[in-house]
Amino acid sequence: MKIGVLALQGDFAEHIVMLRRIGVEAAEVRLPEHLQGLDGLIMPGGESTTIGKLATAYQLMEPLRAFGRQKAMWGTCAGAIFLSKDARRQQPLLGLMDIQVERNAFGRQVDSFEIDLEVPALRQVDPQGQPYHAIFIRAPLIESVTGEALALAKLPDGRIVAAQQGRWLATAFHPELTLDDRFHRYFLTMAG
Ligand code: GLN
Repeated sequence: MKIGVLALQGDFAEHIVMLRRIGVEAAEVRLPEHLQGLDGLIMPGGESTTIGKLATAYQLMEPLRAFGRQKAMWGTCAGAIFLSKDARRQQPLLGLMDIQVERNAFGRQVDSFEIDLEVPALRQVDPQGQPYHAIFIRAPLIESVTGEALALAKLPDGRIVAAQQGRWLATAFHPELTLDDRFHRYFLTMAG
């Protein structure tokens, strides 16, 4: 198994560290040819407008869409925005996943927070089903899931913060900033 991490901007290095820690071959993706031979791609947190502009400049938009139609893709935070069909404003999006997101839904950087979530899907990789400690940094909200997309995790008030649609995964929070590898292992089951 070989997983790529889109390495244009944001915290791609943390995803690579996590993947290597769980014994998976990981590669940085900056150009279309770097997608060859990958079983899945992670798009990191960062700044989604910047990631979209750089992906456009490096002629990655169409190759990323083509990759996503065949293989597993996971966006964390800004990466989830980039994966979405609708961010309710003009910016380059892959437009693959049937989710509508609201950027910076929780306010400014100082309004970042951490919270324990119930994520039933993670029982696939850890039957114990401990709560998942999620880190939100100027995070988006998944306002709605439509079509084939399903909510995977919600805040206590019911707002959606993780979703899946077939081989596509979107998390508003940052598993790569924790030592909890369950989401990365879950993504590997999707890519395998
Ligand atoms: N606020 C960023 C955006 O809208 C996302 C923040 C993050 O990835 N931690 O693109």
